[in-house]
Amino acid sequence: MSPEEFRHWGYQTIDWLVDYRQKVEEFPVLSQVEPGDIRAKLPSNAPQQGESFAEILADIDRIIMPGITHWQSPNFFGFFPAGASAPSILGELMSSGLGVLGFLWATSPACTELETHVLDWLIDMLGLPDHFKSSTGGGGVLQDTACSAAIVSVIAAREQKKADINRLVAYTSTEAHSSLEKAVRISGLRPENLRLIDIDHHYAMSPDRLEQAIKADLQAGLIPCYLAGTVGTTSSNAIDPLTRLGAIAQKYDLWFHVDGAMSGTAALCPELRWIHQGVELADSYCFNPHKWMMTNFDCNCFYVRDRLKLTNALSIMPEYLKNEATDSGKVIDYRDWQLPLSRRFKSLKLWFVIRHYGIEGLQHYVRKHVALAKEFAQWVKLDPAFKLVVNPPLNLVCFRHQGGDLINQEILNRINESGTMYLTSTKLDQKLTLRMAIGQAETERENVKLAWKLIRSVAEKIINDNDF
Ligand code: PLP
Repeated sequence: MSPEEFRHWGYQTIDWLVDYRQKVEEFPVLSQVEPGDIRAKLPSNAPQQGESFAEILADIDRIIMPGITHWQSPNFFGFFPAGASAPSILGELMSSGLGVLGFLWATSPACTELETHVLDWLIDMLGLPDHFKSSTGGGGVLQDTACSAAIVSVIAAREQKKADINRLVAYTSTEAHSSLEKAVRISGLRPENLRLIDIDHHYAMSPDRLEQAIKADLQAGLIPCYLAGTVGTTSSNAIDPLTRLGAIAQKYDLWFHVDGAMSGTAALCPELRWIHQGVELADSYCFNPHKWMMTNFDCNCFYVRDRLKLTNALSIMPEYLKNEATDSGKVIDYRDWQLPLSRRFKSLKLWFVIRHYGIEGLQHYVRKHVALAKEFAQWVKLDPAFKLVVNPPLNLVCFRHQGGDLINQEILNRINESGTMYLTSTKLDQKLTLRMAIGQAETERENVKLAWKLIRSVAEKIINDNDF
């Protein structure tokens, strides 16, 4: 592609994206294709000769768009938000265009130093403890996901213990994200040595049950090693009691990891920082700007209190990576902080987002979504046909129709088939529960009002038609 063609198609691509984002509400939120529909439109073999970019771009509309579920729609209320704001898209583009790999400081000093700096900014922005800052013995790094953060934290915990891996035990709650289970498996601990601790009536981990489990393991000759608490569990947005969990972790010498995947972003607002109470006891912490902080996937901020514990666990120095800057000991080489070697210039998009919106701009979105969730919860509460399962601490409302699982499943199916909005579900107390996650930048009160109207009318129709 010549520079002039690149310029031309670059403009066309941006124009396409701007138009898409302006009309995103016109598409069915959940893709309506059947399995295999997209592949059926693709040629069996790759083209022998290159094709024109005009044709490639046209195939986005023809082939790809029908198979898109519109995460950026203001009517997307499923799973969790996946903010992809314009500044973050431009940051991503800039990162792709520069095409650098920042695995060593020397392979692009700006890639490392901007990342270190922006991650330090975020500590102040979220009111996190200073010992996570790079100027102390701690530091932050961008992982791809909270799953990777969990994996590297378990590995650091494992290495810190320097004990028989078969006797190491990890703890988290029954409501923790499945990534913890995967992290335990991948890091070589025995899968049966993961304890899923019971929850209390707020779906948060019970510290008493945790301590009982640790004592039982010690008595059995096992070695408690790792504890993961969650700020905002996936199913119900429960906030684990970090202060009590952290005290137990200290008492029994466990690595304490805190997973704030979606909800950590709320701490941008001082009035919501209570969610992190006790995080100062954590050895590591992570949250995902790629969920609720206007930054497109992937972008997970992972912090450690003692960076040597992480780098000692992950650092390998082959001959071909040796260089003067590393030898000087004056630089960070992020390859030692993650599983892969290579890494993109991901902090650019975070830097763009933070500079474009400013702290106040980002706070505005969090406050808007929390207020909308509270209002939605109030509507649910006032409707005798529905039950509010959790009083939402932040932006996730868990509720269900009083009529039972079959009706709730039918509500979900019909709503999602309608294409008007997208909702997902979970199980709480073994009952199907609808989850309304409010966090897209463009979601306004009108979208939430319409969503509630649709949910109610679909439920009424199902009941009236006895159709479940
Ligand atoms: N932790 C929690 C609490 C989550 O809700 C999620 C996502 O649903 C994850 C971890 C996984 O996030 P990621 O996709 O960044 O690995």
